[in-house]
Parts: sequence; structure tokens; C-alpha cells
Amino acid sequence: MGTTAFRVIDAPTAPEDLVPGEDVPSVALRRLDTLWIQITGTLCNIQCAHCFISCGPANHDLEMMTRAQVKAYLDEARELGAKEYYFTGGEPFMHREAVEILGDAVAQGPTTVLTNAMLLRESTVERLAQRAKETGHELTFRVSLDGFDAATNDAIRGPGAFAQAFEGIKRLARHGFTPIVTATRTWECCGEKAMVAGFERMLKDAGVREVRLKILPSLRIGREKQRSRDYTPCERVTAKMMEGFDTANLICSTARIVTDRGVRVCPILVGAEDATMGQTLKESLGPYPLRHRACHTCYTNGAICSNATGAAQPGACSGTTSPKSP
Ligand code: SF4
Ligand code: SF4
Repeated sequence: MGTTAFRVIDAPTAPEDLVPGEDVPSVALRRLDTLWIQITGTLCNIQCAHCFISCGPANHDLEMMTRAQVKAYLDEARELGAKEYYFTGGEPFMHREAVEILGDAVAQGPTTVLTNAMLLRESTVERLAQRAKETGHELTFRVSLDGFDAATNDAIRGPGAFAQAFEGIKRLARHGFTPIVTATRTWECCGEKAMVAGFERMLKDAGVREVRLKILPSLRIGREKQRSRDYTPCERVTAKMMEGFDTANLICSTARIVTDRGVRVCPILVGAEDATMGQTLKESLGPYPLRHRACHTCYTNGAICSNATGAAQPGACSGTTSPKSP
């Protein structure tokens, strides 16, 4: 399966993957369906070897957002017709007011939180389950893991990460949540079947009622660029490639992400200064040029950040599907 020894790699938050030249197509925002919130900036309790925004305990490139900042963006998003909310970081549960802020969002609409599940206390999960029940909107947990046991996961996420995350998943299951496990494909294609089977087993052992698994392609920016490889010069999106291409497949056509530094185009380029669209959402509704090589990963793999788990992904390991319910 090709695990690597865990090591922390120094890498910048901002992607250094700009495409040279003029032949760069732009993508218009069709409508703001989804608001992403970078609630804890680039601060995380761990430092995964593949983190594409190089998050960690000491990365303050983007700082935590206040509850008031998030609330103002939630209000603005509602006015603009947003339908759902995604929280990410860093690790959202490092925020002291994570429960209250998630409560504000789920009162407004379906909400998803991307977490490594390591800091999920029983009381936190219990309060969130109660809050979601009161509002009648769905609260979804997306748990990032990179392997189904300590050997496969901790090679990427660091010693002890699997054991803590497994406890978090068990707590979620006990309170009726069915988390979506999200893994970045850091293994060889030939190991895919064994990885999927391992994740299925692990989720059953944790007491999760239904297996929901999302396998992401790796984004070769931040630490991942140094762990694996950089994009090649051919990996870029050109105007010609956009002919007949449905931009609905790109998250930047229906979403924006808010940070403590303003609004950026998408969660993938959240570390890039040039992806700043404005300070308010209303200022951020214009088109964005696909000038980062990371855009090529979106082009070939679709809306990789959304919750969908069932579709086969073109690209590496083509034809691999996430498992359905057991
Ligand atoms: S991949 Fe997620 S859990 Fe890992 S360092 Fe980055 S933000 Fe933290
Ligand atoms: S990285 Fe993906 S979502 Fe972000 S601007 Fe590029 S194509 Fe759009």
C-alpha cells in the first residue's frame, strides 16, 4: 500500500503554482449556492504531510475568525441566496466557540464541518446533535483520515492521530451522526481496493450505520508538493480546454470561501493572495481566472470539495467508487 514514514515538511501556505502566459480562461460565478468558512484559518492541531495549505499549530498565515465575523458573512450569504454552509480550517474544533458558530450556521441551513475528529469531546457532539435537532437542518461531519488504522493513517497524519480520530468517530456514531470519511489518495492505484475495504471495516467497528467514503485526488501544492511532486507544465487549464466544458463541475462557479482576510475564490486556493475577491461577498461575485495549476486537478476530477460520495472520479484510479451502504 506504500506508506511513508511521518515527517513534518516546511512548506508555504500560498501555492506557488501560477501558470505563465495569457491563455487563461475565467470562470463566472453562476450563483452563490455554497458558503465555505475558513473558521480557524491555517491553524491545526496536527501537521499532515500532504496538507495542501500547510496547516499546523504554528501557521498563522490565516487567523481564526470571530463569531461576529462569521455571523456577518452568514447574514450576507443568506441575502444572496446561499443554500448550504461548509466549515473548514485548519481544524474547526480548535475554535473555542465552534459549537456556537456551527449552531448559528445550522439554524440557517444544512451545514457540513470538515474535521480530523481528534478534538471531538462527548459534550461537543452531544450539544451539536441537540442543536441540529432543534433547527431541523442537517449537520454533516466530514472526517479526514488517510488510512483505516494507525499504520496507514499516521504515516501521513502523525503518531496517535488515528487512535484519537477513531474515538471521535465512535462518539459521532453514538449520537446518531453518519460521518463522511474523506481520504486523500496517497496510495498506489493497485492498493485502492484494499484501502476501501479497510475503511469499510473500520467504520463498522466504530459503530457507524452507513459507510460514506470520499476519496480525493491529491492537490500538489503546499506540503503535498514537497511530499510527492509538483504539477508538470502540461497540467494547466487552457481556454481551448474550456470549450464545451460544463463549469458547474467547478466549485468556483457556485461557491466562495470567507476568511479573516476577506473572501477568496475557493477552499483549494484559500492560501493564495491572488485568490482574494473582496472583503464582502457582494464584492466577490465576479469571475476568476484559472491561473493556478491546482485548477487542473479540479478540471480533471470535478467538484472535489463537495459532499458527494457516490460518483466514479475520472483521473487517477479511474472507476473507483466510494462504497455504498453495507
Ligand atoms: S490536512 Fe487537515 S488535519 Fe491535516 S494539517 Fe491540514 S488542515 Fe490539519
Ligand atoms: S482551484 Fe478549482 S475551484 Fe479553485 S479556482 Fe481553480 S478550478 Fe476553481
